[in-house]
Amino acid sequence: IIDAHNVSKTFNPKTIPVHAVQNVHVHIEEGEFVALVGPSGSGKSTLLNMMGGLDEPTAGTVIIDGVEITTLSENKLIDFRLHNIGFVFQSFNLIPVLTAKENVGFVLQLQNIHKDKREKRVLELLNEVGLEDKINSKPSELSGGQQQRVAVARALASKPKIILADEPTANLDSKSAANLLDIMAKLNKEEKITFLFSTHDQRVIKKARRIITLVDGKIDSDVQQIPS
Ligand code: ATP
Ligand code: MG
Repeated sequence: IIDAHNVSKTFNPKTIPVHAVQNVHVHIEEGEFVALVGPSGSGKSTLLNMMGGLDEPTAGTVIIDGVEITTLSENKLIDFRLHNIGFVFQSFNLIPVLTAKENVGFVLQLQNIHKDKREKRVLELLNEVGLEDKINSKPSELSGGQQQRVAVARALASKPKIILADEPTANLDSKSAANLLDIMAKLNKEEKITFLFSTHDQRVIKKARRIITLVDGKIDSDVQQIPS
């Protein structure tokens, strides 16, 4: 479902070049649950951003579901992302002035979904992440774990086949992290959503079925495991 072919990213090519990702090949099948690991600065976020079309590779191609996203125009790319990929970030990235319901509904609004249908879908989504009693709360009134669950509900809003998550549990206590991971695993199992997430968290790594390790911008190992 995601094919990164010979992908590289060099920051500051004209001054002091940083070779963040170098000639990486990755193929992620539909339905996989993959952890991207490696030391700080090894290129995990850079690779994830390129695989999700948030950042343009210096070289190489990324193909998602048969579409070569690296050749799409900016507008087409934005539209493709909106319909095909959900993103979850370490720092939640919710809009502070909007309630949980509005943060999730916003994505559906971008897709011009009618108000009544939107309301119904937002409630379903917040229910799915166990936040039915927090729909009218603003991010500042929610715990980190609850905010991250709103972020997952938002990522799900467009019914993506793929969710990319950059250290989704990094700012969570162990209980919230375990809860978030359970939700991710359930979505993977029951809705066949493909997950690729970067993480430093050993408990999260244990739950992955495949672990890709990056070192100095290159793939150091790529192994399957039985999740515990
Ligand atoms: P961490 O585990 O700390 O999140 P990471 O594996 O996600 O690290 P990246 O953020 O992908 O690492 O960074 C890879 C390299 O690219 C680092 O050397 C970093 O300093 C550099 N880098 C990342 N983003 C930029 C940027 N926008 N401009 C310049 N250099 C950057
Ligand atoms: Mg990172």
